[in-house]
Amino acid sequence: MKRDFRISYSRLNAYLFCPYKYKLIYLDNIRIPSNADITFGHIIHRTLEQFHNCKHNNFSCNKLFELYNDSWKNDGFITPQQIFEYYVRGKKMLKYYYQSFARSKDKIKVLCVEKQFTSNIGKYEFVGIIDRIDEYPNKIYEIIDYKTHSNLWDQKKIDNDLQLSLYAYACRNVFKLNPHRIAIYFLSKNRKIYTTRSDSAICKAIKIALQIAENINIESFNPNIVNCHFCGLQSQCKYVHKV
Ligand code: SF4
Repeated sequence: MKRDFRISYSRLNAYLFCPYKYKLIYLDNIRIPSNADITFGHIIHRTLEQFHNCKHNNFSCNKLFELYNDSWKNDGFITPQQIFEYYVRGKKMLKYYYQSFARSKDKIKVLCVEKQFTSNIGKYEFVGIIDRIDEYPNKIYEIIDYKTHSNLWDQKKIDNDLQLSLYAYACRNVFKLNPHRIAIYFLSKNRKIYTTRSDSAICKAIKIALQIAENINIESFNPNIVNCHFCGLQSQCKYVHKV
């Protein structure tokens, strides 16, 4: 590879989906067109970041809605009806989020939100952003990753999720915290599903990340055409496989 590059979970995920997609995005700088799900995810993450960074303890639900309105943008939505449906969905999510947080806020301390980190995997720089880290009494730490889509994942998928394993690694190595619990917070259902990561699970994730980084380093970008149907880059790809 002619230039230095960083590993991030998004990059690894793009490569796992299709190595050629990685090349289009990160080497050829082709942008995936925005869509409603991407924009909506950004809006909710931004709203919750501002909510937890606010110094006021008695923050009302209406104030949370104000932050939501301020964060809103229409990029990627197709119709006014779609905007309306997502907007209402987001408000419902935030209402339940607020109620759950208000009930638990005396027990937990939110240590950080949208926390950027830089670490290393082998000789490669590894960067990312962890949505939230909480501290419970007796120095119990919890990593939380928000999801805004409407489907819940099953426990097996969560237990094997590469992103969570790498974030557990970063939490230990960068923040020097051992995450006792790791949760995916499915905001559309207001439900957290928990998992943990053993040393061996983290080692396995590091090996996968390293292997992908080595493949990128030698410019191995074979197309994975079985995923073309789900790919947002079909119009820019010479290998696109239409079924
Ligand atoms: S259209 Fe298919 S081959 Fe092209 S980048 Fe997407 S998944 Fe890969």
